[in-house]
Amino acid sequence: MSSNLPDFDEDAPLLEVEDLSTTFRTDAGTLLAVDGIDFTVRKGETVCIVGESGSGKTVATESITRLIKEPPGQVDGTIRNKGLNLMELSEKELRSIRGNNIAHIFQNPQEAMNHCYTVGWQIVEALRVHQDVPKKEARARAIDLLDRVGIANASARFNDYPHEFSGGQKQRAMIAMALVAEPDLLIADEPTTALDVTVQAQILRLLNELQEEYGMSILFVTHDLGVVAEIADRVIVMYSGKVMERGDVFQIFEQPAHPYTQALMRCLPDKGVDTGGIPGQLPDPLDPPDGCRFAPRCEHAIEDCTIGEQPAEMEIDSDHEVSCVFYQHGYDESVVRDRELEDDTAIEDSSTEVGATDD
Ligand code: SF4
Repeated sequence: MSSNLPDFDEDAPLLEVEDLSTTFRTDAGTLLAVDGIDFTVRKGETVCIVGESGSGKTVATESITRLIKEPPGQVDGTIRNKGLNLMELSEKELRSIRGNNIAHIFQNPQEAMNHCYTVGWQIVEALRVHQDVPKKEARARAIDLLDRVGIANASARFNDYPHEFSGGQKQRAMIAMALVAEPDLLIADEPTTALDVTVQAQILRLLNELQEEYGMSILFVTHDLGVVAEIADRVIVMYSGKVMERGDVFQIFEQPAHPYTQALMRCLPDKGVDTGGIPGQLPDPLDPPDGCRFAPRCEHAIEDCTIGEQPAEMEIDSDHEVSCVFYQHGYDESVVRDRELEDDTAIEDSSTEVGATDD
C-alpha cells in the first residue's frame, strides 16, 4: 500500500515534528491541547514523552498520524516521516502510513480488540488490510507473530477470543497486530498502565526485544518515570501542551534541570518527599496563563515567569534543553538547580523491574 505514496527520503530523520499545535473547538472556547512543540525520533531509538495526565502527550502522538477527529480538532504544523510531510497527505494516503510505517498501541487492549472475533482472525485481518497475502499465508504469519510476542502454544490460542486472554496476553496480541507490517515507528501510548507491575515489566522487555529484532523506533507515552528509566534513550517532558525539558535519559534523571522535571522526580516512590503528587493542578487549557505554564505551581516563580510567552528552550548541554527563565541570559540558574536531586537520582532507582517471566 505504501507504493501509492510520494517517495520517502531514506536519509531524512524518521520523524520530524515542527511547531505542532492541536486545538479543539468546544462550547466554552478553543482548547489548546498541544502548543507549538518540536521533536524528532531517529531510527532505532526510543523516545519517551512524559508528563502528568492532561499535559498533551497523547494528543501530540495521535496528531502525528492525524488520528484526531477534525473537526472538532485541528492539527497544525509540520510532521515529516522520512522527509514526507504527513500534513499534505490525503486521508487515503494517511491510512497507508498508519500501520505500514507508523503503528499505534494503546493503553487498554480490552477496548482496542473486537470481542466478537477470535484474536487470530483479528491479526489475519490486520495483515490482509496492510499486505496483500493469501488467507493461508496470513494465518501462518499470524501464528508466528503470536509466538514472537510470547503467546505460548500460539497455534491453539489463535482460535481463542479476547476474553480468553489475560490482560498481559491481550496487550501482547495488540503488539502482534501493530507489528504485522513491520512499521518503522511504533507509537505506544501508556501500553502498560492497565497491567500489574510484573506483567508491565514483561511487556517492556518484549518491546525492547522486538525493537532490536525489527530495528524499529519507539515513541513511548507515559506518566511513569520508572517506565521511562527502563526504556528511554531520550526523554521529552511535557506540561500543559508545551515542552519543558528534553535530553537523553541520563541527563534527565541525573541532572533534571527544569523545576517541573524535578517535581516529577521527587514523586518517585523511593524519594519519599511527596508521594501525593505535585501540589496544585495543571492550568485550564481553555485559558492557559501568560509566561511559563508551570508558574502557578513553581516554588521558584518570579514576576518575569508570568510575562509573555513560555520561555524559549535553552541548550544547557549537548541535546539537553530547558524552557525556564533561570537558564536564560542574565539569570542565575543555580536558583533552580536541585543539587540534592542531581546527587541522588539515578536510573537504577526506578520502581519498575524488568525481568519477570509470567503473565
Ligand atoms: S520559568 Fe519560572 S515558573 Fe517556570 S519553571 Fe522556571 S522558575 Fe519556575
